[in-house]
Parts: sequence; C-alpha cells; structure tokens
Amino acid sequence: MGDQRVILISANWKMHLNNVEALSLVQQFAAHLSASPIPPGREVSIHPPFTSLATVKAAIETYRLPVVLGAQTCHFADSGAYTGEVSAGMLASLNVRYVIAGHSELRAQCGETDEVVRDKVSAIYRHAMRPILCVGETTAERNSGVAERKVRRQVASALGDRPAELVAAAVIAYEPLWAIGAGVTATPDDAAQMCTAIRNELGNLAGVDEAAMVRIQYGGSVTAESSGALLGAENVDGFLVGGASLDAEQFSTIVTG
Ligand code: PEP
Repeated sequence: MGDQRVILISANWKMHLNNVEALSLVQQFAAHLSASPIPPGREVSIHPPFTSLATVKAAIETYRLPVVLGAQTCHFADSGAYTGEVSAGMLASLNVRYVIAGHSELRAQCGETDEVVRDKVSAIYRHAMRPILCVGETTAERNSGVAERKVRRQVASALGDRPAELVAAAVIAYEPLWAIGAGVTATPDDAAQMCTAIRNELGNLAGVDEAAMVRIQYGGSVTAESSGALLGAENVDGFLVGGASLDAEQFSTIVTG
C-alpha cells in the first residue's frame, strides 16, 4: 500500500442502472456511509452511465456525500460531428473529476487503440480532469510471458512525452483481462508484481518522485472478501470495481473496510 498516497476506490457501473435506479443506489450507499464513514486517506469516485451523471451529481450534493463524480469514457475531440459521443469538456462542466480511459471492454468491443486512448487522455487533461488509465493483459499474454511488456507499453503509449506533473496526476488501473467480470481475482502477489512494474515504468517516463505520486488501482472481480488483502499489496493504491459496486452494502464494505 502506498504510504503517502490517498487510496482511490472507483465504482464503474458500466451500462447498468437507469436514472431512477442510479438515484436509489446512491441513496442506499449514503445510508451505509452515514453508519460507517469513509476512513481518512481514502477517496471514492462513482462512474455512472452518461444518462445518470446529472442525477448522481445532484444526489452527491443533496446528501453531502464525500465522493466525487467520474465518467466511463469520453471522446478525444472537444466538439464536432461525432454523433452519440460525449466530450471531455461536457463532463468537466458536470464537475466530473476522473474519466476512465482505455477500459478493456472499449479496447476489445469498440476498437479503441493505444493511439485513441492517448488522445482521450489528452482531452481529459485539456479539461483539467484526471484519467484513470486502464491497462492489462489477456490470459494468452500472461501464459506466453509478455504480460509485463504489454502493460508497460500501454502505460508508455498513453503517458510518455507528457509533462511530469501530468504523469503524476494520472491514475492507472491494472486490470488483467482474465479477472474482469470473471469472478477470478488476481492474488495480492500478482497484483503487487504488476503494479510495481507499472510504477517502475512511470519512473522511466517522468522520474521517481512523480512516479511515487501516481495512484495505481487494481481491478478485476474485487469483492468485499478480497479487497482487504489486495489493499495490503505493495504498490496497490485502490480499486476499480465493476460488479461489486452495484451492491451498496458490498461497495460500502470495500470502501470502508
Ligand atoms: C471493471 O470493469 O473495471 C471491473 C473491474 O469489473 P469487475 O469488478 O466486475 O471485474
């Protein structure tokens, strides 16, 4: 665990919950937090679908929840003829603080390349928000011994040749593809090994001091049962949580446990 780094635990709701259901989940989460507050040194972000961003923003304000708003992606352009897309500037105007970039589902299902991810990260920084850059390897890549090389390449592609302070402001989510939505969690040792490799790569890109400021999350079937041991792993500074973040009680336990 990073000693000076604030832990960041992020809820990725993916394409779940309509506007009414989103409000209900935030209300349930607020009730849990009033009984068991978020400990100091932890930050929480909630990433609903675009259609519920304004509702969740209003609920955070109404219930004075100590959490920040996040988004699941954005377009790389600031405006233009991109039907159906949402720009980083639009998200910033809703007080979004963190935007996920390069989630493996978008890389796989929407052909999001390393180049597109880099451009999205640039758009996020242009609008004074912070990227949560997702990186991770497939089972085949792990078995053939190229996992670390691939993850380092993804980090360098998105963050290389940027001012050191922007690298320091990034959040990286190490999400092995074999663990996402699979009910299989990486061991704390597996997570520590890759998160340490990521920090070393960040050191190469921006210097050791800046690398030490970056929060590195683990993501992939995190549950209330697995979160404690994973948070104790070296260089793991929080989580990107999918399925378990849709259950207010379980997500509250991950956040406060
Ligand atoms: C994710 O989609 O980022 C994720 C980690 O999902 P899950 O927790 O469901 O594996």
